[in-house]
Amino acid sequence: MQKEFDVLIVGAGIIGTSIGAELSRRGAKVGVIDKGTVGRGCSYGNAGWMTPCFAMPLPMPGMLLKSMKWLLDPASPLYIKPSLSLDLASWLFQFMKAMNETQARRAVDALVVLSQKSLTEYEKLGQKYPEIFFQQKGLLMVSKTEAGVSAAVEELNYVKNLGVPGKVLNSDDIRQMEPALKSPLLGGVYFEKEAMAEPYQVVQALAKEIRAHGGEILENCTLQDLPVSGNKIEKVVTSLGEIKAKQVVMATGSWSKSMARMMRLRVPVLGGKGYAMIVPPLETQPQYPMMLVEKKIAITPRQNSLRIAGTLELVDQDFSITPKRVDNIKKGAREFLHLPEELQVQELWAGLRPCTPDGVPLVGYHDRISNLMLALGHQMLGLQSGTGTGLLVSDLIEGKTPFVDMKVLDANRF
Ligand SMILES: Cc1cc2nc3c(=O)[nH]c(=O)nc-3n(C[C@H](O)[C@H](O)[C@H](O)COP(=O)(O)OP(=O)(O)OC[C@H]3O[C@@H](n4cnc5c(N)ncnc54)[C@H](O)[C@@H]3O)c2cc1C
Repeated sequence: MQKEFDVLIVGAGIIGTSIGAELSRRGAKVGVIDKGTVGRGCSYGNAGWMTPCFAMPLPMPGMLLKSMKWLLDPASPLYIKPSLSLDLASWLFQFMKAMNETQARRAVDALVVLSQKSLTEYEKLGQKYPEIFFQQKGLLMVSKTEAGVSAAVEELNYVKNLGVPGKVLNSDDIRQMEPALKSPLLGGVYFEKEAMAEPYQVVQALAKEIRAHGGEILENCTLQDLPVSGNKIEKVVTSLGEIKAKQVVMATGSWSKSMARMMRLRVPVLGGKGYAMIVPPLETQPQYPMMLVEKKIAITPRQNSLRIAGTLELVDQDFSITPKRVDNIKKGAREFLHLPEELQVQELWAGLRPCTPDGVPLVGYHDRISNLMLALGHQMLGLQSGTGTGLLVSDLIEGKTPFVDMKVLDANRF
């Protein structure tokens, strides 16, 4: 095999396929490779939310104390397993350094813009590919505690000045909107413009776009080496042979740290492990996607089932499933919803969110390797910011002025 492309994208998750679809629409000769099959990484089973309201990076100011508590509590929705790994220690150091108001505000600004651009793109994609089940019903944040309601209202206050509308609800408002919820509830927030879709179908639709515009996707094709000559990648060595490409885009999600090591680059991405389970529809099926605030559990109604997703455990390429953490998700969901006594789990999935220490993706050209673009580290918002990242990377490749503050996303900041 000796193939040649204008742009070769490594990784066929939501980020890689979003970039591939946009570039091939713009006329570039695009190739995408994946070590597995399209969309089976973290983009496979996520909650399917396209929610600009959730643009907060993980290390928000005020998280320091909380993160210390997680260290000690494996049952918490967010957990950092203590370990002696140097990678983890340096990641945590950078995470704590990133907890400052100015940095967080700039990050939220950029991530909201990226997510809103994406939402518009998903709406168009949904019209062309109804199988992605794009629905713009809004999103409910619901809580049983004062602290939870305050957190939801704080989130609303933070993002409404950035053009994300929402309203505060009391318990009666919520009960009327969503009869599937158990009482008592204290209140919450309704973000009316937020959307949801089937995440795996979204990636498949983008793959169809790539092929329809003359692009090629090579599955079961693992990147093995990227020899650099001078300041340029000379060729791409894969398990299926060598490929020539004028530019290479790295969209390898939680695998990025080891990918980058191939070229002696520093890309501090760890996996934020989360679980999602598909269960049969409830007797009173929820109508809205919902965030159960204090449990950090995401409920997504599907056509003939329900997706319950949650937890974030910081790991390094560990896909194992811990039954105790799955039980905690079920227990948390049960506090809010009428789940049957014997909950039948039709599918249980674990995915690794690609997490950078400052909670912001790395997007842009590498300053040492002139034809290498990074587009990775989208943590908990890879779907909601995916198609926006596709637009952004395509603009950068075409030399256009980017539509977000590139300092925040700077690919060389670590
Ligand atoms: C439980 C859970 C719920 C979530 N809910 C949401 C949500 O509602 N909304 C949202 O926006 N985000 C959500 N996320 C986060 C979102 O899923 C991720 O941010 C997103 O999927 C990351 O996409 P990606 O394309 O960067 O990575 P991936 O989808 O993991 O894709 C990376 C690809 O790179 C390939 N690859 C790796 N190494 C190589 C190699 N050597 N050669 C070739 N290919 C390689 C992999 O096979 C993989 O297909 C959730 C995540 C979890 C775990």
